[in-house]
Amino acid sequence: MREKLKALAELQKVDMEAATLRKAADVHPRQIAELERELGAARSAIEAERNRVADIERQKLQLEQNIADEKDKVKKWEARLAEQRSTREYSALAREIDIAKKANLTMADELVELTKTLATARETVKGKEAEFSARQQQLGSRMSELRAKLAEAESQVKQLEGQRSGVAAKVDATLLRRYETVRKKKLPALVGVVAGTCQGCNMNVPPQLYNQLRTSLGTDVCPSCHRIIYAVEALADPADAK
Ligand SMILES: [Zn+2]
Repeated sequence: MREKLKALAELQKVDMEAATLRKAADVHPRQIAELERELGAARSAIEAERNRVADIERQKLQLEQNIADEKDKVKKWEARLAEQRSTREYSALAREIDIAKKANLTMADELVELTKTLATARETVKGKEAEFSARQQQLGSRMSELRAKLAEAESQVKQLEGQRSGVAAKVDATLLRRYETVRKKKLPALVGVVAGTCQGCNMNVPPQLYNQLRTSLGTDVCPSCHRIIYAVEALADPADAK
């Protein structure tokens, strides 16, 4: 009886170890995805800054074009002014020229402001690009670290899975079937009973059942949680028992 129990305990050890590894390995893909998101957000922030610079550049070009057009217009009007015969027409055109010149001055002021804004925006982009490339490097190395850890855990799980069939072959067939059924719902599926209490559900097992487990050094089923139970004394080191 005790040997059967030992074989099953051995199998459960493998299963628990694999479960722990899987759980730990599950975290890595989530962490990697998290880092990828972070990197993507940083990249979009840079893109937004670059777009802002491009916008200002376009505005500046447009404004420069407008100023040049207005200057041309003024030049043409001034040429026409000399040809004016009537005083009324002359003064009307002179007024138009005056308004156009004032508008040009306003646009020239705007251009100065826009040039300053553009310089600042370009500086900001430069700074953010440096920040981004540092962050990108940092995140990249963290990601490859995590990928390596994930691969390592996966290979360990595979190794354990390889061992498992050998260990399972030593377990009594009936006991193994019961274990596999319980294992699908609960792990650990095999639990000890300590001083009459099932370590799986913390309920007391009937005293008669407990006594029987201690005498047989075998297994039974917990009436409360249906895990496979054994008296812990059965797996205790014989040296301790003496
Ligand atoms: Zn129980």
